[in-house]
Amino acid sequence: MNEFKKTNIENPVVVIGGGASGMIAAWRAASLGVPTLLIEKNKKLGIKILISGGGKCNITHDGNIEDLLKSFQKNEALFLKPSVYKFNNRSILKLLEERGVETYTRDDGKIFPKSNDASDVIAALEWYLRNAGVEIRTDCSVQEIIFENNCVTGVKLNNEIIYSSNVILATGGVSYPQTGTTGDGFRFIEKTGHTIVPLRPALAPIKLSNKFPYGWGGVAIRDAELICLVNNRKTHSERGDFLFTHEGISGPTVLELSKYAAMELANNKVELILDTQPDKDATMLDSEIQQLIGLHPNKQIGNIAGLFLPNRLVNHFLNSINIDPEKECRKLIKEERKQLVKLIKEMFIGTIDTIDITKGEVSAGGISLKEVDPKTMQSRLVKGLYFCGEVLDIAGRIGGYNLQAAYSTGFTAGESAAINYKSQSTTP
Ligand SMILES: Cc1cc2nc3c(=O)[nH]c(=O)nc-3n(C[C@H](O)[C@H](O)[C@H](O)COP(=O)(O)OP(=O)(O)OC[C@H]3O[C@@H](n4cnc5c(N)ncnc54)[C@H](O)[C@@H]3O)c2cc1C
Repeated sequence: MNEFKKTNIENPVVVIGGGASGMIAAWRAASLGVPTLLIEKNKKLGIKILISGGGKCNITHDGNIEDLLKSFQKNEALFLKPSVYKFNNRSILKLLEERGVETYTRDDGKIFPKSNDASDVIAALEWYLRNAGVEIRTDCSVQEIIFENNCVTGVKLNNEIIYSSNVILATGGVSYPQTGTTGDGFRFIEKTGHTIVPLRPALAPIKLSNKFPYGWGGVAIRDAELICLVNNRKTHSERGDFLFTHEGISGPTVLELSKYAAMELANNKVELILDTQPDKDATMLDSEIQQLIGLHPNKQIGNIAGLFLPNRLVNHFLNSINIDPEKECRKLIKEERKQLVKLIKEMFIGTIDTIDITKGEVSAGGISLKEVDPKTMQSRLVKGLYFCGEVLDIAGRIGGYNLQAAYSTGFTAGESAAINYKSQSTTP
């Protein structure tokens, strides 16, 4: 039998998980003057931040609050609204800038530290934690949350019980489990009656059943539309850049589409096609090609097709529809032209084999938003239990939105837990 060390001292606020959301939650609670304990199972805080944005950390996204919210699904945006209004992209940038972390904004709105080094972000957040007096316990894994009569009463460690009536669950999702996110939080609340919306991949690489020739690796198609075909029906599409890699496919379109494709994959055959000219419909494209052929009758068709398809692969694609790339344009028959248009508008990419949840930038699903008060992040089922970050059923787009959701919900959770503690300690 395990002997538990019982510390009878009540900890005003306990935060489980030292990622982006947990760090902001702990800092906010402590900065309101409430003693706060932050427990992280890794030896260091913020391990996932360290690998974010390829190690550069896409901290947040530029734009006003309504624009930020638009990058989430409607129900997520509605839930996030009060938190993002409290703590937005300007708020996190101000905090970081005050600690000397200068940032820059890319043309696409993504914001990074000027140093392109994610560890600068972690160092600044750690400074705030220590400055606010947060007690930090790393290399310390919570095993259980303890509840009594629908109220939280503390957390169990390996051989210790820590009492608290304000516990913030910030244990993240289930992607990249090597960073500590092994879904512990979902297990902790199993018995509380909270609904866990099934976890599934999001922003994850898609593995196809087919392979492409090695030489295709690195070929990018800019501003294309990747379309998901479920039993030959178009179900979802994403616009942006698409990339052939040595292993298969990648790029923002692929990552964004993964969440929707994964939902279908369990029961259906899911195929991908690519529209390399999404601004033109087939009729427009056909007449443009006819015009070009009229202007350059003696040119090779490969040259004309190269205006719409990646140059490195034009010959391959034309051969795949039985058109000789060296054929003179004037010799192209109508049926061949139609085939070319179809190729440009509906290039078959492949059938999806798997989408691995552990390889996603985030995992979709998590604690149902319906059971959490968006103004406080407090559970509607268990008093004193708060949630923030990816443990919630929120999965934003690429661009710094997921970290922003983590900071905003963390801020609200920390603030509410501190206010709750203060009201408990003044109640006679
Ligand atoms: C490769 C990659 C790149 C990404 N790039 C970006 C990006 O550039 N911009 C962006 O906005 N988002 C990015 N994301 C997503 C973003 O990093 C996450 O959404 C965000 O970090 C979630 O924060 P969180 O605090 O909710 O969870 P996490 O950061 O995952 O933190 C949860 C913490 O809880 C700890 N924990 C879990 N269980 C226990 C336990 N039992 N006891 C104690 N501690 C526990 C974990 O060890 C972990 O440190 C990326 C994600 C990945 C994987």
